Amino acid sequence: MKTATLPKQLDLRGLAARGATVSGTVAPGELPRLDEAGVALAEPLMASFSLRRDENSRSVVAAEVKATLTMQCQRCLGEVSVPLSTSSTMACVWTDDEAASLPAFYEPLLVADEAVLRDIVEEEILLALPSFPTHETECKTREQFAALEPLNASSDEVTEVSAQADSPFGVLEQLKN
Ligand SMILES: [Zn+2]
Repeated sequence: MKTATLPKQLDLRGLAARGATVSGTVAPGELPRLDEAGVALAEPLMASFSLRRDENSRSVVAAEVKATLTMQCQRCLGEVSVPLSTSSTMACVWTDDEAASLPAFYEPLLVADEAVLRDIVEEEILLALPSFPTHETECKTREQFAALEPLNASSDEVTEVSAQADSPFGVLEQLKN
């Protein structure tokens, strides 16, 4: 079964009144703020939005995102695959004041008539990003270090070492004189 692409823009309040559920995929490259953060989608992500009205006629959006990200491992600087799964319950608000008066169990979702679903998905991922992604098992350090070796044996260092080795003789030379 082919999974549909997530619709771009929707009237969330209208869908909440109908108790609708919207889900679909977002392809890599469609989330520019992730690109800016140095994060790539390893494969199309899955997002789902369950909408309903609560007893106070708020439009409630339960959003779930499942994605596999490619980030830079902070230990070996190689690419690491990071599975991410987010789940949030949000309520649609028109203004910041309305957001401030929401019960604590809702996250405010500031939307006008139509919401851009990709923006919401992107925000969910950005909020859930690990700050220190690393490989769970041992990093491929051998490969990494092999790649770094020419840098480690830099000519500056070699020069410095030989200069230090020379200096005791220089001192001896001075003592002789
Ligand atoms: Zn690593």
